[in-house]
Amino acid sequence: MPKSTPKSKAKPKPATKKKAAAPCPGTDPRRVRKILDGLDKAYPAATCALHHDNAFQLLIATILSAQCTDERVNKVTPDLFRKYPTPKDFAVANPSELEQDIRSTGFYRNKAKSILGASKRIVEEFGGKVPQTMEEMLTLSGVARKTANVVLGTAFGIASGVVVDTHVQRISQRLDLTKNTDPKKIEQDMMKAVPKDRWILFSHQIILHGRRVCQARRPKCSECRLEKVCYSKDKTYSSW
Ligand code: SF4
Repeated sequence: MPKSTPKSKAKPKPATKKKAAAPCPGTDPRRVRKILDGLDKAYPAATCALHHDNAFQLLIATILSAQCTDERVNKVTPDLFRKYPTPKDFAVANPSELEQDIRSTGFYRNKAKSILGASKRIVEEFGGKVPQTMEEMLTLSGVARKTANVVLGTAFGIASGVVVDTHVQRISQRLDLTKNTDPKKIEQDMMKAVPKDRWILFSHQIILHGRRVCQARRPKCSECRLEKVCYSKDKTYSSW
């Protein structure tokens, strides 16, 4: 009888490890240090430009600032906060009336919905106080990471992440601190590259830098404190 040949057991293939994305060359800690030093020299006292007296007002102002300038929001909020002084006042506001109150900030229907929803939740679930964790902030309507980071960082001094707005998106790419275009991934890259104790100030500084110097269309590179460490293809001037 022919010997039966044992069935050859197929060797399990080794699990293929997903390649981690190569770190951005621009995130070398010594280079990041130079960027932070340059920002400190240029904007030592950078802070949020939205006028507010407390965390709740900052939350409302930040919701209003979507697709709108801070200047415009600052024109609307004094009357708004006089008319609705507490979260409860916003929570029971007449929706159409609130829409008209904030109309000049644009996208007023959605913003009114977010403000009403967030205020109701703050009153009903959080005892009328703005919550102080990212997890809880993200349960408020109209609040995503950007808004939560602004409020937690500016109102409470809690470093929960890096604010990624249009300026931070553009400048983090120009400074080669990220290759990503998705705001969530950009934020993760910034949180890795920048020391945690600098997240809050760094966010304010970069936003200010985007407004004053590193503007979208024509950055003022000859006036830029970061010019010596910047090798962006968008540069309009180079000293080296
Ligand atoms: S050198 Fe120009 S492109 Fe680079 S960060 Fe400064 S302003 Fe922006």
